[in-house]
Amino acid sequence: MTTNKNGLAYQRILLKLSGEALAGEEGLGISPDRATDIAQRVKQVHEMGVDVAIVIGAGNLWRGRTGLNAGMDRATADYMGMLATVMNALALMDAFERINLMTRVQSAIEMRSVAEPYIRRRAIRHLEKNRVVIFGGGTGNPFFSTDTAAALRAMEIGADVLIKATKVDGVYDKDPNQHVEAKKFEHLSYIDTLNRRLEVMDSTAISLCMENKLPILVVNLWDEKALAKALLGEKVGTLVDEG
Ligand code: UDP
Repeated sequence: MTTNKNGLAYQRILLKLSGEALAGEEGLGISPDRATDIAQRVKQVHEMGVDVAIVIGAGNLWRGRTGLNAGMDRATADYMGMLATVMNALALMDAFERINLMTRVQSAIEMRSVAEPYIRRRAIRHLEKNRVVIFGGGTGNPFFSTDTAAALRAMEIGADVLIKATKVDGVYDKDPNQHVEAKKFEHLSYIDTLNRRLEVMDSTAISLCMENKLPILVVNLWDEKALAKALLGEKVGTLVDEG
Protein backbone atom coordinates (compact mmCIF):
# COMPACT_ATOMS: atom_id res chain seq x y z
CA MET A 1 0.00 0.00 0.00
CA THR A 2 1.38 3.43 -0.92
CA THR A 3 1.78 6.10 1.73
CA ASN A 4 1.96 9.89 1.50
CA LYS A 5 4.77 12.20 2.65
CA ASN A 6 3.59 11.83 6.25
CA GLY A 7 3.90 8.04 5.96
CA LEU A 8 0.12 7.69 6.00
CA ALA A 9 -1.93 5.40 3.81
CA TYR A 10 -4.96 7.61 4.44
CA GLN A 11 -4.78 11.33 5.25
CA ARG A 12 -8.47 11.94 5.95
CA ILE A 13 -10.73 9.33 7.48
CA LEU A 14 -14.39 9.01 8.26
CA LEU A 15 -14.74 6.74 11.25
CA LYS A 16 -18.14 5.06 11.64
CA LEU A 17 -18.89 4.04 15.20
CA SER A 18 -22.01 2.12 16.08
CA GLY A 19 -23.94 3.33 19.09
CA GLU A 20 -23.06 0.03 20.73
CA ALA A 21 -19.43 1.14 20.94
CA LEU A 22 -20.52 3.65 23.58
CA ALA A 23 -22.71 1.27 25.54
CA GLY A 24 -22.03 -0.26 28.93
CA GLU A 25 -21.81 -4.00 29.64
CA GLU A 26 -25.46 -4.69 28.75
CA GLY A 27 -25.12 -3.13 25.32
CA LEU A 28 -27.40 -0.26 26.27
CA GLY A 29 -27.06 3.34 27.38
CA ILE A 30 -23.97 5.50 27.39
CA SER A 31 -20.88 4.58 29.36
CA PRO A 32 -18.61 7.60 29.92
CA ASP A 33 -15.71 5.15 30.42
CA ARG A 34 -16.30 3.69 26.99
CA ALA A 35 -16.38 7.20 25.57
CA THR A 36 -12.99 7.83 27.20
CA ASP A 37 -11.56 4.63 25.65
CA ILE A 38 -12.78 5.74 22.22
CA ALA A 39 -11.34 9.23 22.77
CA GLN A 40 -7.93 7.73 23.48
CA ARG A 41 -7.99 5.70 20.28
CA VAL A 42 -9.05 8.71 18.26
CA LYS A 43 -6.35 10.86 19.87
CA GLN A 44 -3.72 8.30 18.94
CA VAL A 45 -4.56 8.54 15.23
CA HIS A 46 -5.16 12.29 15.34
CA GLU A 47 -1.64 12.74 16.71
CA MET A 48 -0.33 10.88 13.68
CA GLY A 49 -1.57 13.85 11.63
CA VAL A 50 -4.74 12.21 10.32
CA ASP A 51 -7.89 14.33 9.75
CA VAL A 52 -10.63 12.57 11.70
CA ALA A 53 -14.36 12.89 11.15
CA ILE A 54 -16.82 10.61 12.91
CA VAL A 55 -20.37 9.42 12.33
CA ILE A 56 -21.97 7.83 15.37
CA GLY A 57 -25.02 5.56 15.41
CA ALA A 58 -27.61 5.11 18.16
CA GLY A 59 -28.26 1.38 18.52
CA ASN A 60 -27.38 1.70 22.23
CA LEU A 61 -30.33 4.05 22.74
CA TRP A 62 -32.94 3.54 20.06
CA ARG A 63 -33.37 2.00 16.63
CA GLY A 64 -36.22 2.95 14.33
CA ARG A 65 -36.91 -0.75 13.78
CA THR A 66 -37.77 -1.23 17.48
CA GLY A 67 -40.56 1.31 17.17
CA LEU A 68 -41.70 -0.05 13.83
CA ASN A 69 -41.96 -3.58 15.26
CA ALA A 70 -44.11 -2.20 18.07
CA GLY A 71 -46.50 -0.57 15.60
CA MET A 72 -45.06 2.95 15.51
CA ASP A 73 -44.92 5.10 12.42
CA ARG A 74 -41.58 4.36 10.78
CA ALA A 75 -40.62 7.97 10.10
CA THR A 76 -41.34 9.05 13.68
CA ALA A 77 -39.36 6.13 15.07
CA ASP A 78 -36.48 6.96 12.73
CA TYR A 79 -36.45 10.62 13.77
CA MET A 80 -36.15 9.42 17.37
CA GLY A 81 -33.12 7.37 16.30
CA MET A 82 -31.53 10.40 14.64
CA LEU A 83 -32.07 12.49 17.78
CA ALA A 84 -30.44 9.73 19.83
CA THR A 85 -27.29 9.93 17.69
CA VAL A 86 -26.90 13.55 18.82
CA MET A 87 -26.81 12.43 22.46
CA ASN A 88 -24.06 10.00 21.56
CA ALA A 89 -22.22 12.71 19.64
CA LEU A 90 -22.29 14.99 22.69
CA ALA A 91 -21.00 12.17 24.93
CA LEU A 92 -18.09 11.67 22.53
CA MET A 93 -17.40 15.40 22.31
CA ASP A 94 -17.26 15.60 26.08
CA ALA A 95 -14.81 12.68 26.29
CA PHE A 96 -12.65 14.09 23.50
CA GLU A 97 -12.44 17.52 25.08
CA ARG A 98 -11.54 16.02 28.46
CA ILE A 99 -8.32 14.81 26.84
CA ASN A 100 -7.78 18.08 24.96
CA LEU A 101 -8.92 16.94 21.56
CA MET A 102 -10.57 19.93 19.90
CA THR A 103 -13.98 18.83 18.65
CA ARG A 104 -17.01 20.17 16.86
CA VAL A 105 -20.38 18.46 16.63
CA GLN A 106 -22.53 19.11 13.58
CA SER A 107 -26.09 17.86 13.40
CA ALA A 108 -28.09 17.06 10.29
CA ILE A 109 -31.19 18.07 12.26
CA GLU A 110 -30.90 21.68 13.38
CA MET A 111 -30.59 22.22 17.12
CA ARG A 112 -28.38 25.26 17.33
CA SER A 113 -28.17 25.43 21.10
CA VAL A 114 -26.36 22.09 21.29
CA ALA A 115 -24.62 21.60 17.95
CA GLU A 116 -23.68 23.41 14.78
CA PRO A 117 -25.95 22.70 11.84
CA TYR A 118 -24.32 20.45 9.24
CA ILE A 119 -22.48 22.70 6.80
CA ARG A 120 -20.12 20.80 4.54
CA ARG A 121 -17.61 23.56 3.92
CA ARG A 122 -17.46 24.45 7.59
CA ALA A 123 -16.84 20.82 8.49
CA ILE A 124 -13.92 20.73 6.06
CA ARG A 125 -12.57 23.96 7.56
CA HIS A 126 -12.67 22.38 11.04
CA LEU A 127 -10.68 19.42 9.77
CA GLU A 128 -8.13 21.75 8.21
CA LYS A 129 -7.81 23.45 11.60
CA ASN A 130 -7.05 20.09 13.22
CA ARG A 131 -10.41 19.70 14.90
CA VAL A 132 -12.19 16.39 15.11
CA VAL A 133 -15.67 16.67 13.60
CA ILE A 134 -18.52 14.50 14.86
CA PHE A 135 -21.57 14.27 12.64
CA GLY A 136 -24.80 13.62 14.53
CA GLY A 137 -28.35 13.28 13.27
CA GLY A 138 -27.54 10.67 10.62
CA THR A 139 -28.46 11.87 7.13
CA GLY A 140 -31.34 13.88 8.57
CA ASN A 141 -33.78 11.61 6.71
CA PRO A 142 -35.87 8.71 7.95
CA PHE A 143 -35.56 5.33 6.18
CA PHE A 144 -31.76 5.62 6.19
CA SER A 145 -29.07 4.36 8.55
CA THR A 146 -26.00 5.93 10.09
CA ASP A 147 -23.91 3.62 7.86
CA THR A 148 -25.37 5.47 4.89
CA ALA A 149 -24.76 8.78 6.67
CA ALA A 150 -21.12 7.71 7.10
CA ALA A 151 -20.75 6.93 3.39
CA LEU A 152 -22.42 10.21 2.44
CA ARG A 153 -20.37 12.39 4.80
CA ALA A 154 -17.15 10.58 3.83
CA MET A 155 -17.76 11.52 0.23
CA GLU A 156 -18.76 15.08 1.05
CA ILE A 157 -15.61 15.83 3.07
CA GLY A 158 -13.31 14.05 0.61
CA ALA A 159 -12.28 11.26 3.02
CA ASP A 160 -9.79 8.74 1.64
CA VAL A 161 -11.47 5.83 3.41
CA LEU A 162 -14.52 4.96 5.45
CA ILE A 163 -13.39 3.02 8.50
CA LYS A 164 -16.10 0.91 10.02
CA ALA A 165 -15.10 0.19 13.60
CA THR A 166 -16.50 -3.06 14.97
CA LYS A 167 -16.03 -5.56 17.78
CA VAL A 168 -14.29 -8.10 15.55
CA ASP A 169 -11.13 -7.82 13.50
CA GLY A 170 -12.73 -7.84 10.07
CA VAL A 171 -15.45 -9.43 7.97
CA TYR A 172 -16.08 -13.17 8.31
CA ASP A 173 -18.17 -15.58 6.25
CA LYS A 174 -20.03 -16.52 9.47
CA ASP A 175 -20.30 -14.99 12.92
CA PRO A 176 -16.87 -15.76 14.45
CA ASN A 177 -18.34 -15.62 17.96
CA GLN A 178 -20.62 -18.52 17.16
CA HIS A 179 -18.63 -20.56 14.62
CA VAL A 180 -15.01 -21.53 15.28
CA GLU A 181 -14.54 -22.42 11.60
CA ALA A 182 -15.56 -18.90 10.44
CA LYS A 183 -13.18 -17.60 7.77
CA LYS A 184 -11.96 -14.01 7.71
CA PHE A 185 -11.70 -12.06 4.46
CA GLU A 186 -8.68 -9.79 4.04
CA HIS A 187 -10.07 -8.26 0.90
CA LEU A 188 -13.51 -8.13 -0.69
CA SER A 189 -15.05 -6.39 -3.67
CA TYR A 190 -18.13 -4.23 -3.19
CA ILE A 191 -20.13 -6.50 -5.45
CA ASP A 192 -19.15 -9.67 -3.56
CA THR A 193 -20.04 -7.99 -0.29
CA LEU A 194 -23.46 -7.11 -1.68
CA ASN A 195 -24.11 -10.45 -3.38
CA ARG A 196 -23.06 -12.51 -0.38
CA ARG A 197 -25.02 -10.24 1.95
CA LEU A 198 -22.01 -10.00 4.24
CA GLU A 199 -22.64 -7.89 7.30
CA VAL A 200 -20.27 -5.03 6.55
CA MET A 201 -22.77 -2.21 6.25
CA ASP A 202 -26.26 -2.02 4.81
CA SER A 203 -26.63 -2.28 1.06
CA THR A 204 -27.51 1.40 0.52
CA ALA A 205 -24.23 2.42 2.18
CA ILE A 206 -22.16 -0.13 0.25
CA SER A 207 -23.77 0.86 -3.06
CA LEU A 208 -22.97 4.50 -2.41
CA CYS A 209 -19.33 3.63 -1.69
CA MET A 210 -19.19 1.43 -4.79
CA GLU A 211 -20.54 4.14 -7.08
CA ASN A 212 -18.04 6.65 -5.75
CA LYS A 213 -15.10 4.25 -5.36
CA LEU A 214 -14.71 4.96 -1.66
CA PRO A 215 -12.81 2.15 0.07
CA ILE A 216 -14.27 0.69 3.27
CA LEU A 217 -11.98 -0.73 5.92
CA VAL A 218 -13.46 -2.86 8.69
CA VAL A 219 -11.29 -2.90 11.82
CA ASN A 220 -11.59 -3.84 15.46
CA LEU A 221 -12.05 -0.67 17.50
CA TRP A 222 -10.96 -2.40 20.71
CA ASP A 223 -7.64 -3.63 19.38
CA GLU A 224 -5.30 -0.93 20.69
CA LYS A 225 -3.08 -0.92 17.62
CA ALA A 226 -5.40 -1.82 14.74
CA LEU A 227 -6.44 1.68 13.74
CA ALA A 228 -2.93 3.09 13.84
CA LYS A 229 -1.56 0.12 11.87
CA ALA A 230 -4.26 0.52 9.23
CA LEU A 231 -3.38 4.18 8.82
CA LEU A 232 0.26 3.31 8.30
CA GLY A 233 -0.79 0.99 5.49
CA GLU A 234 -0.33 -2.32 7.31
CA LYS A 235 -2.74 -5.12 6.50
CA VAL A 236 -5.36 -5.24 9.22
CA GLY A 237 -9.05 -5.98 9.17
CA THR A 238 -10.90 -6.32 5.88
CA LEU A 239 -10.63 -3.93 2.97
CA VAL A 240 -13.64 -3.57 0.68
CA ASP A 241 -13.02 -1.87 -2.63
CA GLU A 242 -13.29 -2.52 -6.36
CA GLY A 243 -11.42 -5.79 -5.86
N1 UDP B 1 -31.66 6.91 11.36
C1 UDP B 1 -32.41 7.45 10.33
N2 UDP B 1 -31.78 8.10 9.30
C2 UDP B 1 -30.43 8.23 9.25
C3 UDP B 1 -29.67 7.65 10.27
C4 UDP B 1 -30.30 7.00 11.32
O1 UDP B 1 -33.63 7.36 10.35
O2 UDP B 1 -29.92 8.85 8.30
C5 UDP B 1 -32.34 6.29 12.52
C6 UDP B 1 -32.80 4.87 12.28
O3 UDP B 1 -34.02 4.69 12.95
C7 UDP B 1 -31.72 4.04 13.00
C8 UDP B 1 -31.37 4.94 14.17
O4 UDP B 1 -31.45 6.26 13.64
O5 UDP B 1 -32.20 2.79 13.44
C9 UDP B 1 -30.00 4.69 14.74
O6 UDP B 1 -29.02 4.56 13.73
P1 UDP B 1 -28.31 3.16 13.39
O7 UDP B 1 -29.28 2.02 13.53
O8 UDP B 1 -27.65 3.30 12.07
O9 UDP B 1 -27.22 3.07 14.56
P2 UDP B 1 -26.05 2.00 14.81
O10 UDP B 1 -26.55 0.65 14.40
O11 UDP B 1 -24.88 2.42 13.98
O12 UDP B 1 -25.76 2.12 16.28
